[in-house]
Amino acid sequence: MKTELVIDLEAEKQEILKRYRALLRASKSTLQKGDKKEIRKAFDMALESHKDMRRKSGEPYIYHPIAVAQIAAEEIGLGTTSIVCALLHDVVEDTNITLEDIEREFGKKTAKIIDGLTKISGVFDTNSSLQAENFRKMLLTLADDVRVILIKLADRLHNMRTMDFMPRHKQLKIASETIYLYAPLAHRLGLYAIKSELEDLSMKYLEPDTYKFIAKKLNEKKAERALFIKKFVEPIDEIVHEQGLVADVYGRPKSIHSIWNKMKKKNIPFEEVYDLFAIRIILDSPPENEKADCWKAYSIVTDLYRPNPDRLRDWVSSPKGNGYESLHTTVMGPRGQWVEVQIRTQRMNEIAEKGFAAHWKYKESSNDNGLDQWIQKVREMLSNPEANALDFLDDFKMNLFSDEIFIFTPKGALIQLPLGATALDFAFEIHTDVGATCIGAKVNHKLVPISYKLQNGDQVEIITSSKQTPKEDWLNVVVTAKAKSKIKSSLKEEKRKIAEEGKEILERKLKSLKITYNTDNLNKISYFFKLPSTQELFVNVALGKIELKDIKEYLSSEKEIEHRGPERPENLSVDGIKSKMKGTESDILLIGEDMQRIDYTLAACCNPIPGDDVFGFITVSDGIKIHRTNCPNAAQLMANYGYRVVKAKWNKQKELTFLTGLKIVGIDDVGLINNITKVISGDFKVNMRSITVDTNEGIFEGSIMIFVNDTEHLENLIKNLLKVRGVTSVTRFDA
Ligand code: MN
Repeated sequence: MKTELVIDLEAEKQEILKRYRALLRASKSTLQKGDKKEIRKAFDMALESHKDMRRKSGEPYIYHPIAVAQIAAEEIGLGTTSIVCALLHDVVEDTNITLEDIEREFGKKTAKIIDGLTKISGVFDTNSSLQAENFRKMLLTLADDVRVILIKLADRLHNMRTMDFMPRHKQLKIASETIYLYAPLAHRLGLYAIKSELEDLSMKYLEPDTYKFIAKKLNEKKAERALFIKKFVEPIDEIVHEQGLVADVYGRPKSIHSIWNKMKKKNIPFEEVYDLFAIRIILDSPPENEKADCWKAYSIVTDLYRPNPDRLRDWVSSPKGNGYESLHTTVMGPRGQWVEVQIRTQRMNEIAEKGFAAHWKYKESSNDNGLDQWIQKVREMLSNPEANALDFLDDFKMNLFSDEIFIFTPKGALIQLPLGATALDFAFEIHTDVGATCIGAKVNHKLVPISYKLQNGDQVEIITSSKQTPKEDWLNVVVTAKAKSKIKSSLKEEKRKIAEEGKEILERKLKSLKITYNTDNLNKISYFFKLPSTQELFVNVALGKIELKDIKEYLSSEKEIEHRGPERPENLSVDGIKSKMKGTESDILLIGEDMQRIDYTLAACCNPIPGDDVFGFITVSDGIKIHRTNCPNAAQLMANYGYRVVKAKWNKQKELTFLTGLKIVGIDDVGLINNITKVISGDFKVNMRSITVDTNEGIFEGSIMIFVNDTEHLENLIKNLLKVRGVTSVTRFDA
C-alpha cells in the first residue's frame, strides 16, 4: 500500500510568512529607511526561485535561507546587506538566478558577497589538497569581506541544527568538518555562543552516547544546581547594588562539549567536574567607568569568597586577539568547591557573544583592535604563494584556538603572540630577515636560546648574525603560522638551489653511462632509490648520497624494475580495494554503501571492537582501516579526506574476540586483585593478556588487557567489576 504525503499548501504559506515576520522583528534594531523594502525584495526573489525545492525533512526549502538570515541578524548582529545576502545565499548555486541578476537588483556589494558564498560552497567536496585550497579561498574572502565568513557560519549552524534527516555518513562528514574548522573559526572571530553550539552539535553526531550521557547527568542535578547558584549569587547581588553599580548577576551552564573535554583532559568522571557552570556579572557602565567598575565588582566578589590567586585573568586591560574583554576569577564557594566568576560590562558582553560584528559597532571607541591585526596577519600569510595549501591549513588551524601572550620590544612596543611562542617566533614577528638570521635573544636582559618559551610581559631583544640561515629543526621550535611558513619557504628555496646543482651533475653522469635523460628514466631511477620525487633524487645526487656506482647498480637491475606511478584517487574506492583483495572474506564487518564483506584491518590508534560506532577509511597502501568515530584522528580524516571514508557496520557475532584495555581504580584492599580477576576470568570467562598493577598510598590502579566479543560484552563486564568492593571506577582505554 502506498502512503500519500498530503501537504497543506495554504498552511505552509502562512508558516513561511510567519517566519519572515519573525526575521523582520529580529533585524528591527538595525533597520534604516528603505531597508525593509530591500529585505522584502530579497525574500520574494528567494521564495520564487526556491519554490519547487524541499529540504531532506520535506519542509519547503525557503525555511533554510530565512533561518540563516535570522541567525545572521539575531545571533551575530549583522545588518541589512548581510540579511539580504543570507536570504539569497543559495540561489546562484541552486537556481536559475545569476550573479548579474543579483547585481542588477541589489548592487555590486551584495553580488560580491554572494559570489564569495557561492565560491566557497564547494569547500571539502573532493580531495584533500583541493579542500585546503578551497579553505584558503574562503579565508581570502575573509580578508575581502568578513561578512562572507559570518554568513557561512550562520549557514553551517542552521545545517547542523537540522541534520537529523541526513544519512549517517553525511552527518559524520559534516560534523567532522564543523569540529575541525568551523568551530575554531567561530572562536577566532569571537563568536563564543556559536562556537559552543557548533561543538555541542558536532559531538551529538560524532559521539552520540557520551553526549546523551552528559546531557542526562546535567539534567538530573538541574534543580540542585539552580539552588546553589541562587545562594551563591544573592549576597553578591545585594552588595553590588548597595555600592551603586547597575548589574545583572546570574549563573550560566557550561557546554556539554567543554565538560567532556575536561573529563578527558583530567581523566575524571562526570561527578568530579566541578565547574559545570560559571557566574556572570554584567555591568551597565558608561565607557569612562568600565574598567574601574569591573575591578569594583571583583573586589566585592573576593571580599565574599576567597579567590584562587593563580586563576585571575585580566582581559580588560589587555583584550584577547579576537576582541574578548572580561575579568575572570575563580573563588571558593560555600560548599568548598571552586566557582568561576566572569565580570564584564554590557558592551564587553555583546562583543563576547556576537564577536566581530559587535566589535565593528564599537570600533570608534577602542583604539587597539586585535581582530584587525589578526585579519592583517591572515592577509600576509595568504600572500605567500609558495606555501603548500595543506601545510598552511594545519598551521593556520593551530593558531585559531591558541591564547595570546603579550611581549614587549626593547623600545616598549607591544607584540601579541600565541601562548607557547618562542624567541624565534618573536624574531619572525618583527621581520622575516630578523627571524632568518636569529641566533639567540635577550629576554629581560638575560641571554636565552632561540627555543626559549616566552612568558607574558617579557621584554625581548633579538640577536642576529649574517651567517645564520633557517634550519629544518626550526620548524619544531616555532608555533606561529607566520614563522612556520617563512621557514618552510626558505628551506624550499634552499632545496631548490641544491636540486638545481644535482640536476646538472646527474645529467652529466647519465650521459657518461649512455642513459637518455628524460622524465621516464628519472622516474624509474627515483623509484629504484625509493625517493618520492625527482627533486629528491637531484638533492641526493648533489649531496653525494647517490653516486655513479649506485646508478650503475640501478642499470644492472633495470630489467626487473616495473614502473609504478603514484596511487590515484580513483584507485581509492571500495571497488578498487576489493579487486586487490584475495580470499579471506570476513563476516564480522560490513563495508560500503551496499554493505559488502571486504577485508580490513583495525586501526591501532583507537582499537575498535564490535559494537563501537565505526567507519572505514581507504588508505593508500594498506586497504581499508576501521576507526572508531570518536577516534582522536577521526575528525581530521573525515574533514580532509571525506571521499575516502566508507560506511562500516558490525555484524552480530560471538565467536571472535578483540583486544581492549580496562583501567581499574580503587581502594587498595587485601584480595582486591583476586576479586577482580575472579570476575574477569571466572564469571565472565574472558581471557586476559596482561595485567599491570600500581598501588600508591592506598590507591589501587590497574591496567588490564582483555579479549572481549563486543561492546555489550565489555559493558556487562565493567558493570560487574564496579560491583567489586573497593573498586571506584572502571574505564576503557585504547592501546
Ligand atoms: Mn545554505
